[in-house]
Amino acid sequence: MPPEDDRKRARALLDGATAVAVLTGAGISAESGIPTFRDALTGLWEKFRPEELATPEAFLANPKLVWDWYAWRREQVAMALPNAGHVALVAIEEACRDRGVDFTLITQNVDGLHELAGTRRLVELHGNIRRVKCFDHGHAVKSWPATDGVPACPHCGSLLRPDVVWFGESLPGVALTQALAASQSCEVFLCVGTSTVVEPAASLPFMALEEGAKVIEVNPTRTPLTGRATIAIAGSAGEVLPDLLL
Ligand code: NAD
Repeated sequence: MPPEDDRKRARALLDGATAVAVLTGAGISAESGIPTFRDALTGLWEKFRPEELATPEAFLANPKLVWDWYAWRREQVAMALPNAGHVALVAIEEACRDRGVDFTLITQNVDGLHELAGTRRLVELHGNIRRVKCFDHGHAVKSWPATDGVPACPHCGSLLRPDVVWFGESLPGVALTQALAASQSCEVFLCVGTSTVVEPAASLPFMALEEGAKVIEVNPTRTPLTGRATIAIAGSAGEVLPDLLL
């Protein structure tokens, strides 16, 4: 089928749906200058091994290395702006709201760019790198004194860490419940910029398919979902999503 027909069909599906769920991954922020985990050459994991940096064990073994790496990523995120893909998803949400259609955006991203763009019904599955909490008790901490080491929690003295979900950690319960509910009850599931390999987020589009939803994928490269999606659009989020506006 010619690519333009896929986009037309995707627009029609979104236009006719009574409930829409969206799942985004690192790919949607690539055009905002934030590297994805797995893309060759620019991927953050090209330089570091995830198990050296993004696990509680890694933090306990070398808190300074992990804190500094996240501080560097936080700086990158602070400089980034939402791109045309983020903005198009806000417009799709507004169109859904105008028609009384249920809309939920589930993101695996920790960069906060959907919120900055203006998405209202947002589920952050993996936390947010802009927030910090303490390692022992999860106390939320808004500011901390500059130090060469890792700052300590003003409430309990334990080390501060980013408020993100590390490998081996559980997802926030409320966010996971909302993500599951939206995926299992939607009529159309739009999956953007995710390699669909990190669980449990990776299972959400497949759950939606099992419940009878139509699944639209937007990704420049093939993923485990591509062959199963109702419509797979090969392209970047910033170029494709504005073309799907209702
Ligand atoms: P991933 O790195 O595994 O996959 C990124 C996907 O995006 C790939 O399939 C790639 O083909 C696609 N992609 C690249 N450029 C794109 C574009 N312009 N438009 C659309 N798609 C594009 O990322 P993932 O699937 O999100 O899973 C890995 C983990 O990475 C998640 O847990 C997430 O929390 C974390 N992460 C988040 C950020 C962020 O917050 N921006 C950045 C890096 C990693």
